[in-house]
Amino acid sequence: MAKRNIIIAGNWKMNKTPFEARCLAYEIAEKTEGAACKVVLCVPFVDLFQVKEAIAGSGVCLGAQNVHWAESGAFTGEISADMLVACDVEYVVIGHSERRQYFGETDATVNARTKAALAKGLKVILCVGETREERELDETQAVIERQIRLGLADLSEQDMENVVIAYEPVWAIGTGLTATAEQAQEVCAYIRTLLAELYTPDVADATTIQYGGSMNAKNARELLSMPDIDGGLIGGASLKPADFLVIVAAGSAEATKA
Ligand code: PEP
Repeated sequence: MAKRNIIIAGNWKMNKTPFEARCLAYEIAEKTEGAACKVVLCVPFVDLFQVKEAIAGSGVCLGAQNVHWAESGAFTGEISADMLVACDVEYVVIGHSERRQYFGETDATVNARTKAALAKGLKVILCVGETREERELDETQAVIERQIRLGLADLSEQDMENVVIAYEPVWAIGTGLTATAEQAQEVCAYIRTLLAELYTPDVADATTIQYGGSMNAKNARELLSMPDIDGGLIGGASLKPADFLVIVAAGSAEATKA
């Protein structure tokens, strides 16, 4: 089996002024020096420049939290892929459940944003996940299948080299409720099966699938030890350097396993 990239990504959401962002990013960059896993910081747009400077020369990668599908134009409040590339952004989160829940994001807009980002050379962290109600109605697999099929529509095998999937059960995001390692593994393995069907077993084997949803310093090691969980997308704990560093250490331990 191809060795997959283990990626620990912080999603800072709508937190940190540029000055605060610079300080936090600097501390993380300094203390994750030599990490064996990839570390990505997905920060608010206005923080990109400061964070870029703070992580310069370190192994930490710069990420954003959204991108528009159009090249440019009358889309007040939006940011284009070209703008992100010009800020040296490498990764962009697309389809986060908060965007789906509060900002009208649909599978079609997720797909449009993903295509636009990939066309400009960005790497995409595409988020999928079921709500509590959908889980209780036993609809988890159907929801994940729809989000994966429609979110990845028209993407080639080559595109998939630049796509990371983040499985984020909505009921676990920011709630303190974490999926058990077994629940998270089950869905991540299912996503890999879908990728094998949609593409090839090699594509499925090579794709990084993260878990996100109240991952923290206490539960990271167990979650990351599961065979189909290749990293984490971390919200709250990514704002606490001590906790985030423990998660990165757990990711590094996985990355160095034979
Ligand atoms: C997220 O924002 O993607 C996330 C998983 O948040 P939290 O870790 O706070 O649940």
